[in-house]
Amino acid sequence: MTDGQAFAGPSDLHLHSNHSDGTETPADVVRQAHGHGLRTLALTDHDRTTGWDEAAEAAASLGMTFIPGMELSAKQQWRSVHVLAYLFDPADPALVAETNRIRDDRLGRAERIVGNISRDYDLTWNDVLERTTADATVGRPHIADALIARGIVRDRTEAFEGILHPREGYYEPHYAPDPITAVRLIADAGGVAIIAHPVTSGREQMPLAYIEQLIDAGLGGFEIDHRENTEPGKRMLRELAATHDLITTGSSDYHGAGKPNRPGENTTADAMVERIIAQASGSAPRYP
Ligand code: AMP
Ligand code: FE
Ligand code: FE
Ligand code: ZN
Repeated sequence: MTDGQAFAGPSDLHLHSNHSDGTETPADVVRQAHGHGLRTLALTDHDRTTGWDEAAEAAASLGMTFIPGMELSAKQQWRSVHVLAYLFDPADPALVAETNRIRDDRLGRAERIVGNISRDYDLTWNDVLERTTADATVGRPHIADALIARGIVRDRTEAFEGILHPREGYYEPHYAPDPITAVRLIADAGGVAIIAHPVTSGREQMPLAYIEQLIDAGLGGFEIDHRENTEPGKRMLRELAATHDLITTGSSDYHGAGKPNRPGENTTADAMVERIIAQASGSAPRYP
């Protein structure tokens, strides 16, 4: 394809590299996606866009379409809410300022969590830095990797179910905008905002009235086919999406070796990828 306006499915619109808490480089993530039969993918590192160019180049070399993306951290009261953003302008000043603020605060917060853990376990901040690439968005997964390296836990799952769980008392929150602000920032940057895994099990859900406020603020849709969404939650979201004529997506949330999720375990329908592309104005897909 030359200046092609066409893409091919299957499409997976939610994968992480080591620019946030995935374990592989952006190019390796693209190769994994290709190996799992995908032909279109979005890289959606938490709160940063620095992986785009490497991923786009790898995608082009494999004949895949690359959709620039990001997973923006937000929170509604105490609830962590992740907002997927597609095809926005990566230089939008308001969005850049907000993601810089989130990443800066995440860094201090991770150091505070490590300080708390070090009261009871042999863990240092340097252990975490050793497991983190230079300017990655630092999160609890990196602390989990340091705990694994120290032999304190076996894997990230054990870390999240134990030491990193808020009930254990080491947890610290980080700054994040409220979801309405997050959705507006993405829409104002020409992007399409999709709530990531909105109905995960074992957590209190966002109230329906609040989701309706997000729709009024310019929300594009919901990530429905995601392994952590509950079946009743998916049914509720499908109805809501139909009522408001919103986009629905499916994706893996691949994190390399950091999670069991495999590329392409859920996919997004071609018609929905087309709607995201048609609705966005901040940046363009990179066609092969
Ligand atoms: P944080 O944003 O620093 O609080 O960490 C949350 C991140 O940890 C999310 O982006 C998830 O991808 C990751 N995560 C959450 N639970 C697990 C788990 N059980 N195993 C591996 N990674 C997880
Ligand atoms: Fe993550
Ligand atoms: Fe997420
Ligand atoms: Zn994710």
